[in-house]
Amino acid sequence: MVKIFIDPGHGGADSGATGNGLQEKNLTLKIATTLRDILVNEYEGVAVKLSRSSDETVSLEERTDAANNWDADYYLSIHINAGSGTGFESYIYPGVGAPTTTYRDIIHNEVLKVVDFANRGQKSANFHVLRESSMPALLTENGFIDTSSDAAKLKNASFLTSIARGHANGLAIAFHLTKKTTVLYKVQIGAFSKKSNADDLAAEAKSKGFDALVILKDGLYKVQIGAFSSKENADDLAEKAKRAGFNVIVYQE
Ligand SMILES: [Zn+2]
Repeated sequence: MVKIFIDPGHGGADSGATGNGLQEKNLTLKIATTLRDILVNEYEGVAVKLSRSSDETVSLEERTDAANNWDADYYLSIHINAGSGTGFESYIYPGVGAPTTTYRDIIHNEVLKVVDFANRGQKSANFHVLRESSMPALLTENGFIDTSSDAAKLKNASFLTSIARGHANGLAIAFHLTKKTTVLYKVQIGAFSKKSNADDLAAEAKSKGFDALVILKDGLYKVQIGAFSSKENADDLAEKAKRAGFNVIVYQE
């Protein structure tokens, strides 16, 4: 089990940097919680702990104490920059070598692959979270909140998701995380050897408000009205279709 400690910078009474109607503490929390969700939902063998999961005041010491007590394998601190620059940069503690530098290079590059930011380079600084964490640590500065072009990007929710995705891709490579195999629960109301029969049933399902499609698989035309990663959602739809008079099966694929 790889233990990743994610530290959304600032929070509560400490808003961090502000500019263009944005507060750093809100952006870092959104990126960090999205990153946690990606790691936990999509990868095997990874545990994630956050220094905060809401808008609360947490001291720097409490943050590094939490990571050290949990015995994390990695400390990742997420920040937004200020000071009228533009782009992305990352920090490690001055003078540390591998594997910290290796992890840093991988994550830095993976973020820039999926995020439209200028590359300000890999840097070092004597920051508390880098110095007092007893495991390899990285701090990323994701754009400048007081630069209007960067702020415009940071106002876009899908851009924040991309930042999280870039960090997740880097962590996955650095720590050799393997993807979960996703199981889908499919809701099917019929399977026919003749396509016209499947089309007729799909039309009937559509007329009753179901989102039906015909899929050719294993030599059969299957009429499917839904596919879900959650079995509960599949069962709910199956129940509705039964009440509408269809013969329903839910199967995993
Ligand atoms: Zn900050």
